[in-house]
Amino acid sequence: MSGQIVDRLFAIFASKGDQSYFGEPISQTEHALQAACLAHSEGAKETLIAAALLHDIGHLLHELPEDAAESGIDARHERVGQGWLARYFREEVSASVGLHVAAKRYLAYINPEYHDRLSEASAISLRVQGGPLSPEEALDFEETRYSPEAVRLRLWDDRAKVEGLVVPGLEFYRAILLCSIRS
Ligand code: FE
Repeated sequence: MSGQIVDRLFAIFASKGDQSYFGEPISQTEHALQAACLAHSEGAKETLIAAALLHDIGHLLHELPEDAAESGIDARHERVGQGWLARYFREEVSASVGLHVAAKRYLAYINPEYHDRLSEASAISLRVQGGPLSPEEALDFEETRYSPEAVRLRLWDDRAKVEGLVVPGLEFYRAILLCSIRS
């Protein structure tokens, strides 16, 4: 059963992961692998490495044009991903994925420099996603379970856009994914 979920995920990456990562010079699969590699190299626990690898799976589970954000469509991919992952993976995985857009809005509120450093595509999607959190929303976010994990994930997400970077492939993460499946 658990092995089948991992096989299914790898099949999703194989069939749809070549799509470009919204306005960036890399594919969805490259982006996922770079985010997971950053999590792994920083010693994150298995569930958070799994979340880094799967944080944008919501983009691959439904059909929207690649320029959805530029067209003003907020696909809520983090909620699509969270809902799907919650069926198979431990809560830390699905909750961190579900919060990774809120984490970007939080970081943009708390740190104006973060906002200025966002890539052009990421700045556009931030606007579509509601812009920086308000002070009240930021307090709520800080009190939300798994928000620290989501912030770490977000910072890897932002860095995982390096064209041509060589990183381990999907199979490297099989055991990590298996450890992250809910019992
Ligand atoms: Fe991402």
